[in-house]
Amino acid sequence: MGSTIVITGASSGFGAMSARALADAGHTVYAGMRDIAGRNATAAKEFDAYAGTAHSVELDVSDQASVDAGIARIVDESGRLDVVIHNAGHMTLGPVEAFTVEQLASVYDTNVLSTQRVNRAALPHLRRQRAGLLIWVGSSSARGGTPPYLGPYFAAKAAEDALAVSYAAEVSRFGIETSIVVPGSFTTGTNHYAHAGHPEDTATRDAYEEVYPGVMDDLLGKQAALTPPDADPAEVAREITRIVGLPRGE
Ligand code: NDP
Repeated sequence: MGSTIVITGASSGFGAMSARALADAGHTVYAGMRDIAGRNATAAKEFDAYAGTAHSVELDVSDQASVDAGIARIVDESGRLDVVIHNAGHMTLGPVEAFTVEQLASVYDTNVLSTQRVNRAALPHLRRQRAGLLIWVGSSSARGGTPPYLGPYFAAKAAEDALAVSYAAEVSRFGIETSIVVPGSFTTGTNHYAHAGHPEDTATRDAYEEVYPGVMDDLLGKQAALTPPDADPAEVAREITRIVGLPRGE
């Protein structure tokens, strides 16, 4: 029997690919997305039509009420929840000195605090079942060799790593397993320069150039060099699907 799974940030990128791959593997998948009535309406409809076991669910990870409602709906409909995949995230590129505290807090919120909101809503169900799996989508940028211009994202992903390790130490006693996937650099959404200070975004460019003249050329060159052109994001979806398929509770 397949698992009942929720994956956050499933409107695009790794999240959307993983949701489909997991449905293909026979699981019941709830693809969490924000703003299903608006800009993610097409992604939600496409996923709902993908398979009988594929469901989109409104789940804005920045909002505890939205998370609580989404998880409650899943448990109501499915009668259970086995696997939680923390995938939603967002990256900001730039010289670390240029970031306001609010910008840093926003990256931290989407990548770290979001996972706590989801766990707070989901864990009571996993604990009741005395079984389950939590998977974080971290980043290799949090594992040393820090490239420049990734300061807020690097800090957030390192914190996500630490939180995942803390969960691993504490929830196994309730039969709940944990895992973290740490992708390298792929051309999916978080890596788009639109989040980052695109050269056409003059306000961002000017703020960065004020900190270090010439920084934009350096940043864009280094970032492009980090991402191998043949890196296939489907690898991440395959790895997540493999982990979900491993025997649990043994
Ligand atoms: P995408 O931008 O394609 O995916 C990010 C997803 O997060 C989107 O679906 C986005 O939704 C969602 N999201 C952001 N904020 C919220 C929110 N408040 N509530 C719900 N969903 C939200 O990028 P990727 O697929 O690249 O990123 C997925 C994960 O992989 C992230 O955690 C990222 O840090 C990690 N990662 C990415 C790497 C890469 O090279 N691309 C490398 C290592 C890790 P919306 O469409 O509504 O904005």
